[in-house]
Amino acid sequence: MNLRLGLICLAVMIRINPVRACDSPSAGPPSSRPNILVILSDDHAYQAISCYGDPRRLIETPHIDRLAREGVRFDRCLVPNSICGPSRASILTGKYPHRHGFYNNTNCRFDGTQTTFPKLLQKAGYQTALIGKWHLVSDPTGFDYWHILPGQGVYYNPPMIRQGERVQHSGYVTDIITELSLAWLHKRDKSRPFLLLVHHKAPHREWSPALRHLGHDRDRQYPEPPTLFDDYSGHGRAIRDQDMTLAHSFTDLDAKLQPPPRLTPEQLQVWNAYYEPRNQAFRQQKLTGKDLIRWRYNRYMHDYLGCVKGVDESVGRLLKYLDDEGLTDQTLVVYCSDQGFYLGEHGWFDKRFILEESLRTPLLIRWPKVARAGHVDRQLTSVVDLAPTFLEAAGLPPDPAMQGVSLLPILRAQPTPNWRKSFYYHYTEYPVPHRVRPHYGIVTARYKLVHFYKPDVDEWELLDRDKDPLETRNFYHDPAYADVVRQLHAELQQLRRDLEVPAELPKEAYGSLYLPPKKKK
Ligand code: CA
Repeated sequence: MNLRLGLICLAVMIRINPVRACDSPSAGPPSSRPNILVILSDDHAYQAISCYGDPRRLIETPHIDRLAREGVRFDRCLVPNSICGPSRASILTGKYPHRHGFYNNTNCRFDGTQTTFPKLLQKAGYQTALIGKWHLVSDPTGFDYWHILPGQGVYYNPPMIRQGERVQHSGYVTDIITELSLAWLHKRDKSRPFLLLVHHKAPHREWSPALRHLGHDRDRQYPEPPTLFDDYSGHGRAIRDQDMTLAHSFTDLDAKLQPPPRLTPEQLQVWNAYYEPRNQAFRQQKLTGKDLIRWRYNRYMHDYLGCVKGVDESVGRLLKYLDDEGLTDQTLVVYCSDQGFYLGEHGWFDKRFILEESLRTPLLIRWPKVARAGHVDRQLTSVVDLAPTFLEAAGLPPDPAMQGVSLLPILRAQPTPNWRKSFYYHYTEYPVPHRVRPHYGIVTARYKLVHFYKPDVDEWELLDRDKDPLETRNFYHDPAYADVVRQLHAELQQLRRDLEVPAELPKEAYGSLYLPPKKKK
């Protein structure tokens, strides 16, 4: 047994973690240090990836689907907090927001001195690069090379920041991030393994597709989700009263009734040629009520799915590079989003709620000769498990401060009888931008027990996904569920203790509720 393997075994034996999963001592070491390519998109709903099988069949994503065919598809990968910054910080650190300190996108700044998986891989000899959206305010650390969008970034002709220097780019953001990534791969030091994080802006709001994808759906009328006209009558005030509906919160920019920023006059001409005739027809119709919501839903789907087409093409180009360079077998490839998204379910766009479509994020991992091709995992996994996975894949010892667990046993399709049976969720950003009230809760295979607790509510909900898969009802006060409620309360408290969630979070956790938003660069 070599020294590194010895250290790993020792670290596994002494590890104290509320979630244990590594049950198989016969797992053996992974193959020698793989390259790691992480393609992270922004707000990409699993419903908009064809291998996830949404009944609406919204789009075909052949390149992302290839990862599912040749690797493992995770069907219940959950996020600890369903918004960009907190989830990204959880991916980097393997921790919950109350540990990494980035609670919301309003007034938090990532503490770049803390331990992250890129830093540990860099220290172990990996060459590391980050290209695309960062959104954590402070400059990236742990990367030999970084080239990021400032803040949210823009879709067309984006300025970017290359190692601290502002650079102006021409073209469409997904293509630019892909080309910068390929350029870095071409010129990297080929004697060492690489870690490359390709962080797309798409398909984030305002959902602007590449100009070549305008009209990609030939004015298709999209099948509607069954809850497009949800009246929330089965829920309490916190779910009823929010600002993320197609009916009331969809802006002219969202609807492309006005052009997005930074188009050149030539690009604007192409943009107008697609949108203007359709917008004129829309204005003449003077739609109201359900007809207006239907029009918005179809416009939203055209734009959102157009963005997804660009991301899928990017995945295809990156996978082709690996094929062409003979790197496919020695590269662990991850496709993931920073969280899920509502595509009209409950009448919503956006995310934030513990309700399934935003809680769950797509996750696909391909690692030839290690991960079982075509395997589908339905256990409760999370983006906090990614950092521990990368450490183990690279042959590094686990970091006991990380709260996630390596996914390698699942990738190898080994039995994992002690895998987590429940998951803790905690969302806090309020009231800007969508007035979704802070809530925490426990998620199991079947149930969710949720507490909406600030600033003007104190209400519990129990969701039963077996009985009510669309999550339109609160069973908390139904006497038939008394035992379930009691048991889930106990488990929730245990999870909070295990994860060391403070009884009170600091005021800055709540975004603009107590503190003014911080100025972002
Ligand atoms: Ca996001």
